[in-house]
Amino acid sequence: MDQAPNTSDLSDTSVGTGASGADGTTGATDSAVPVDPATDDLQVTDNDRPTSDGTGSGRAGRAGIPGSAGAAPSTNQTVLSAHKISKVFWIKGAKHPLHVFSGVSLTLRAGEMLALVGPSGSGKSTLLRCLAGLEHVNEGHVVLLETNLARASRATLAAMLRENVGLLLINPPLVPSLTALQNVELPGQLAGRSAWSNHQLALRTLDELGARDLAKKSPEQLTPPQAAKVSLARLLTQHPKIIFADEPTGRLSTTDSKLVLSSLKKLAATGTAVVLATHDLHLASKADHVITVVDGALGATLEHPSAEEILQALDQTAYGDD
Ligand code: ADP
Ligand code: MG
Repeated sequence: MDQAPNTSDLSDTSVGTGASGADGTTGATDSAVPVDPATDDLQVTDNDRPTSDGTGSGRAGRAGIPGSAGAAPSTNQTVLSAHKISKVFWIKGAKHPLHVFSGVSLTLRAGEMLALVGPSGSGKSTLLRCLAGLEHVNEGHVVLLETNLARASRATLAAMLRENVGLLLINPPLVPSLTALQNVELPGQLAGRSAWSNHQLALRTLDELGARDLAKKSPEQLTPPQAAKVSLARLLTQHPKIIFADEPTGRLSTTDSKLVLSSLKKLAATGTAVVLATHDLHLASKADHVITVVDGALGATLEHPSAEEILQALDQTAYGDD
């Protein structure tokens, strides 16, 4: 993974009231890209499905990890790059805009796991959302799976998010009108997988996560850890080319956190790239590359650091040589 030098440092930036990290979401005029990968009902033909190898519908019939051949690892292939991206929020009533980060450049290749680690309010989620195409950037551009997000049509973006991009969020976006099992079946259905094999794969995946008993429950009947497992099962059957995980273990026990981590590692071993935003140093230390984020300022990229090394780097990012 390559990370270009970053010039961002909010301590030098006049950011107004929102810079403290207080609830800046209320009244924000900036909006996310209006695409929900799980529920978007755009009709996309096979030819519209973008694949990085340019072969059209690379996803249909591709089974998830459990019991499948999976994706061939394709190392060295760049799956994500950010080019001097900056993000600003204009908050109603605030005198100054909130510059969350600026001039961020990075590159991620297939099968690599990148952790963005830092304290709450430092900009990890915003950066992750910008990289995932869920939020617009104000400067620079992001290329995700060979698609320049600034230039992609809504349909292309929706298809890419649905087919090749996986999301693992602290509040999993499960479809409330579907059962847990139907939620897990959703990616296969959207990719055109045969109903029977899709059903079997979903059941098997829930089984492997020790969550088969949740199959018939509706999302509202699930506890947060159960919803996280169902969301993880859906991710495994989707078997995306890249995953964006925002605090994926935030509400989980150590056992469930290990399950999430081992599942992400398993996917990474098949060529899936993973971007992880977390304040959990232990989790971050399992990534290939770690970038510290403190008040929008990014530190240097650490390769396979220990939790202690990440802690030191966070101090360095926050306080420099003081
Ligand atoms: P982290 O994930 O590291 O906790 P965030 O990316 O959520 O940090 O937030 C970084 C800063 O951006 C915080 O000051 C937060 O209040 C602000 N922020 C995040 N989302 C919005 C939004 N939609 N509108 C305005 N400010 C926001
Ligand atoms: Mg966050």
